[in-house]
Amino acid sequence: MSDQTNPFLIVQGQLHRAVQNLGLSEDVYELFKEPMRISRVAVPVRMDDGRVQTFLGYRAQHTDVTGPTKGGIRFHPDVNEDEVKGLSMWMTFKTAVMGLPYGGAKGGVICDPGQLSERELEELSRGYIRLLSPVMGPEVDIPAPDVNTNPKIMGWMLDEFDRVRGHHSPGFITGKPLVLGGSLGRDAATGRGVLFVVLQAMDRLGIDPKKATAVIQGFGNVGSHTARLLHEAGIKVVAVSDVRGSAYDASGLDVPKLLTYASEHKTTKGFPGSRMISTDELFSLDVDVIVPAALENQIDGERAEQVRARIVAEAANGPTTPEGDELLAERGIFVIPDILCNAGGVTVSYFEWVQNTMGYYWPEQEVNDKLSRMMVDAFSTVYQMQQEHRVTMREAAYLVAVHRVAEAANARGWLRVNFQHEVPGAVLRGPLAD
Ligand code: NAD
Repeated sequence: MSDQTNPFLIVQGQLHRAVQNLGLSEDVYELFKEPMRISRVAVPVRMDDGRVQTFLGYRAQHTDVTGPTKGGIRFHPDVNEDEVKGLSMWMTFKTAVMGLPYGGAKGGVICDPGQLSERELEELSRGYIRLLSPVMGPEVDIPAPDVNTNPKIMGWMLDEFDRVRGHHSPGFITGKPLVLGGSLGRDAATGRGVLFVVLQAMDRLGIDPKKATAVIQGFGNVGSHTARLLHEAGIKVVAVSDVRGSAYDASGLDVPKLLTYASEHKTTKGFPGSRMISTDELFSLDVDVIVPAALENQIDGERAEQVRARIVAEAANGPTTPEGDELLAERGIFVIPDILCNAGGVTVSYFEWVQNTMGYYWPEQEVNDKLSRMMVDAFSTVYQMQQEHRVTMREAAYLVAVHRVAEAANARGWLRVNFQHEVPGAVLRGPLAD
């Protein structure tokens, strides 16, 4: 992994720049440059053929300065310690941009879930939680789904945690099945948040959604809901892709049919009436919006040169390399940064945790309305910072986020900070405050 593609080094650079832009002491960088705790676990699984195989996993907990740590668990062959560390720090800045009462965390297991049977996957999920349960809990660290994990896996993990602790603890994990205390609207929340901020950006740039076009890389939880919601908002989705292939139709894809096709065929490739295009072609299509919704480092310098869209909406975490980011900024492309763009997921996870704590559940419309208000509010704050400080949207988001965590550290007496800039919005602006 180079400096350009290592999420841990990338987020350290982003943090450092924000500390300097805000004129804060280097102590702020020193305090937040490393996760406060990293756990490494070796999870033995009895495979279906009788062998024992051990899988390595990690959990990085970045900071609890603003509350319990929070972040997803990823199952992927490329998981590594620096990736998990970087993703945990992005979670801190994401929850801070949204004003949620959490710090950041991230977990991962090195595995290829496609090669595991359902029983093996369950044993792995349970073993990972069993080993980490001493450092987890609804007031300590709260996991959620990420790449290749889903509500079913969250259900197994919750059950394992309840067994270890000997009592029910629904607020231990979010993104779980409804019947176990999941929230209505959580499944589509990240995609819905993407829709809200894309509409905000279009409004600021004078783009009519009914005449707009979009492409989406990744057709998992985030990509597929984003495609459906953009389509429902009248935005024409002309191309989507997944790890196995892609579907392109210049006249616009029939997204509802594509969703059925993809769930039957486990890929978007071969969708009738579409043709396959390469990832390079996908990123260079002449559309209004590009939504990377797969993995990190997809828009590097070369691809950034080719982008013709006016908006890049970062639904994935870290989809743009630092070099790609610089080029997009130079070329005047409006980037909605990941820590704002995909924050709908953790925001509704927060709603889920609040509902679990109250034991009182909200209708879906209420969840979506609260999400809309918080996404629009966060977008407006970041946009205002961008305009006032003449920086990119990403730098503006970091100004808001780093200011908030520094304020919390200051209030706890961890630091002595002289704040030179005003940042709009209070640290905690929960949806219940309306
Ligand atoms: P997922 O596992 O449901 O889907 C991932 C998708 O990306 C799949 O369609 C996969 O085929 C595709 N993909 C993988 N490699 C690809 C490649 N090289 N080219 C094209 N497509 C590829 O995962 P997800 O939950 O949708 O997460 C996607 C991204 O969004 C990740 O960066 C994740 O961290 C981020 N994210 C997820 C959530 C959430 O609520 N699930 C919230 C915030 C951010």
